[in-house]
Parts: sequence; C-alpha cells; structure tokens
Amino acid sequence: MQATQATQLTHVTMVKKRLGNGDDCRKCVQAEGVLRGHGLWERIDRIVWAVEGEPHSEGMQLGARFGVAAAPFFVVRDDRGHEQVVESTIKLVRSLARSVERVVESPPPSAADSPLTAVELAELALKLAASEPLDIVRFALERWGSDCAIAWSGAEDVVLIDLAVRAGFTPSVFCLDTGRLHPETYRFIDKVRTHYGLSIDLISPDARALQAFVRKKGLFSFYEDGHQECCAVRKVEPLRRTLAGYHAWMTGQRKDQSPATRAQVPVLQLDAGFTGKSGALVKLNPLSHWSSAQVWKYIRDNDVPYNPLHERGFVSIGCEPCTRAVTPGQHEREGRWWWEAATQKECGLHCVGPKLV
Ligand code: SF4
Repeated sequence: MQATQATQLTHVTMVKKRLGNGDDCRKCVQAEGVLRGHGLWERIDRIVWAVEGEPHSEGMQLGARFGVAAAPFFVVRDDRGHEQVVESTIKLVRSLARSVERVVESPPPSAADSPLTAVELAELALKLAASEPLDIVRFALERWGSDCAIAWSGAEDVVLIDLAVRAGFTPSVFCLDTGRLHPETYRFIDKVRTHYGLSIDLISPDARALQAFVRKKGLFSFYEDGHQECCAVRKVEPLRRTLAGYHAWMTGQRKDQSPATRAQVPVLQLDAGFTGKSGALVKLNPLSHWSSAQVWKYIRDNDVPYNPLHERGFVSIGCEPCTRAVTPGQHEREGRWWWEAATQKECGLHCVGPKLV
C-alpha cells in the first residue's frame, strides 16, 4: 500500500467476478456502489472479469499473478510505473481521494439549522420505519451533514460508520472514553480510525467531577450500590456535553438487544433526554429492526473491523469492570452489570423519547 499512499495513481484496473450463472457477484456490485457514492467511479480506467470456472479469463489470470483469491480487487499503477494490488475498496477510495488531492467531505447540510416540526418528524419516522439502514444513514447525513454524529460504542456502531462511508460521507464520530474500557477496545478504536481514515472524538469525563466521585466512592462502588452514579459521571454528563454540539445523532441500538429495555427502540425519535445545538435533538437508530445475526452477517460480508473481544465470548462490550463474556444461549445483555436486575441495565445514554415509530 505504500506506493498508493505516496504517489499519484495513474491507472486503475478493477477486477470483478462473474458467477457461473452469468450474474455479477454481490460484493463487486457493492464495491461499484461505494466508488460511485464517492464520485470516484470515473477513476476506474478498466474493468476485467474473473469468470467463475474459467481459469484463463483475464481476471482469474490477474488474481493468480498477484496472489488474490477473491474479487473484487484492484490493480493500480502509479506515476513511477509501479503496479500493485489493492484488495479493499475502502482503501482504494482513500488512495484515490488523496491522489487527486481531494478530501471526501460531507456535503454542506441542507436546511440543517431549521428544526423539524412535529408533523415533519412524524412523517419522517413513518417513512424511515420501512427503510433499509443504508438509506436511513444516507438520509441523516444528507439532512444534517457533520451536525449528525455517530455515537460509537459497539459492533453495531462500526456498521453505521461503514454504511456512512459506503454512502460517500465522512461522518462525525465520537466515543465516550470512560477511562475504564478494555485495552483491546482502545486498540480497536485506533484500528477503526486508521481503517476508515476518520477523526474519532474521544470524549473524557469532567476531570473535577470524576476526581470528586472517585475520592468519595472509590473505583468499584457500582458493585455495591449500582452503576448509575458512576455512569452518570463517566458517560451521561460527557454525552450531554457532546450532544449539545449536534442537531442529530445516530446509535446502533437494536430492538432485540434487550427485551427488558429496548424492545420499543424506534428508527427515529425526538430525544427527550438530551438537548441539541438548537434545542431539539433528533435521534436515529438505523439498525433498530436488525437482529444480531444480520449485524454479524454485514460485518463478515463487508470485512468490517470488529473488537477481538467478540472472539472471546463478549457480545455487548462496555467498560471492563462491568462487562463479562456470556455463554452460548445467554442473552447478550446478561454480560453487562450482571449483578443487577435486567430492567436496570441501561446507563442513561438512551433515555426514552416520544415513540414515533
Ligand atoms: S459501565 Fe461501569 S465502569 Fe463504566 S461508567 Fe458505568 S458503572 Fe462506571
């Protein structure tokens, strides 16, 4: 990848796969969509086909030459005549964007400052309720641009980031750094930052409030009298402070994450718990209707990075002292605050607003 980072790309060949039944492979179609979404499709100089069952097809030959087993992939040539292969569409997008010295920016938000009326909100909620996550993410970023942030805490939120990037946006992303996350999670945050070429705002608790709380209660009071007080200092106040700078935010909440607390998660709602840049704050949950299986299928199909803790039995991952692995058959929320009742297993980030959908 070094040549694509330091030099100008002068020629790009895309290798697509054609299936035995004559169809284009789904991943290749998605890759084309990503490039078109970023306005970079015109930078593809040539398309060649790797035809299933035809080892002598040009694409198969290129795959053999570069040691690549699966299309889509790209053969790029730089201004020094060096050729190399790029297997990730997202990496190609970043390289092309750099090579033309054009950063892919979010478009200016259209009417982002004009608050939606209650009727508009209700109509939107109805319309988006039946929409695919990609369309919901696209809508939000077209409507509010960088004034709509993705709040990242788990695998679902990285799916939102991936959807946003595939739709052609550079989304605003923030993450609450409670100071108690797993080392693996901190490394993972940085991996996502470099994978997508994004800035990720790490939001810290207020230092004075945190010091006062720890001085009074120590580091593990949540095991004695519940997690609400610690979460209020380490999560809720920093979130409140952060959301005051946005018109809208997106989360990866799903209905099936918690039968006790999330069964009614709508696709779009007015957030009654927090205030935005100009007062009302819109909250979107584009994955509301997806199951855990659908999220993980998307992650696998699209090579989305995920936290290595998931491979050690962790499903819903929060702070290290308050998260544990679950066994097959246990619900994912049983790994969070396991010493408390199921109905208490929210940290105050997702206060319920009007249920528009
Ligand atoms: S999840 Fe646990 S450690 Fe993290 S803020 Fe809440 S109570 Fe504190």
